Amino acid sequence: MTTIVSSIAPSLQAVNARVARVAQSVGRQPDEITLLAASKTNPAERVREAWLAGQTIFGENYLQEALVKISALADLPIEWHFIGPIQSNKTKRIAENFAWVHSVDREKIADRLSKDRSESLPPLQVCLQVNVSGEDNKSGVAPEEVASLAAHIVRLPRLKLRGLMAVPELTTATALQRDQFHMLRELFDQLMRDGYELDTLSMGMSEDMDIAIAEGATMVRVGTAIFGPRRYLIPEELAALAALAAR
Ligand SMILES: *Cc1c(COP(=O)(O)O)cnc(C)c1O
Repeated sequence: MTTIVSSIAPSLQAVNARVARVAQSVGRQPDEITLLAASKTNPAERVREAWLAGQTIFGENYLQEALVKISALADLPIEWHFIGPIQSNKTKRIAENFAWVHSVDREKIADRLSKDRSESLPPLQVCLQVNVSGEDNKSGVAPEEVASLAAHIVRLPRLKLRGLMAVPELTTATALQRDQFHMLRELFDQLMRDGYELDTLSMGMSEDMDIAIAEGATMVRVGTAIFGPRRYLIPEELAALAALAAR
């Protein structure tokens, strides 16, 4: 059986060129924007291929799947970012295995991540995830609670607050998306005025990165445009990968 998979290097190059082009079109410098490759459901070999093509920062959503890849790619100095929902029983392994977490959205999770972050590692770099769309089923702190969560997090010894993250509503209504990115930008600016030293506005994915960059994104999280359409792994496949990685 032959599986045809798109080659990553040209897609990655196209995404980097797109970031640069959009940045310049809105009067920003391309190097103000960091590309995070969202690698969920893509196996370790695909991540390695992206690394070989020059990508160094990768984001993962599911802890079990991420741990398999992190161990399979331990020979590469990849900067791993956790970008998925966080259950409180997962904080220890997240704190041990990632450099960044973008999805901190409540005090309890922040407390646990700080407690679980080893003294032998640098502080865990975190973004607060904000629910900018107000959808009930969405992760993220409500916009009106951002200030108090930020105030709590900067008191935690093993966390370093870097900024805000959001996943806007999945919609073809670009004006609505723009409003939601803009809201995140305004919350970010307000925190800066309040004296927080932040540098990261994590927003924008394959479909909406252009608008996010225009609204001030400093980190875009791009999956499909780099790796191609996702082929979701079922738990049995994950178990098989885990067994392989453990060999
Ligand atoms: C999957 C994912 C992305 C990337 O989405 P694409 O549409 O594939 O670019 C970005 N951020 C988060 C939180 C994700 O889960």
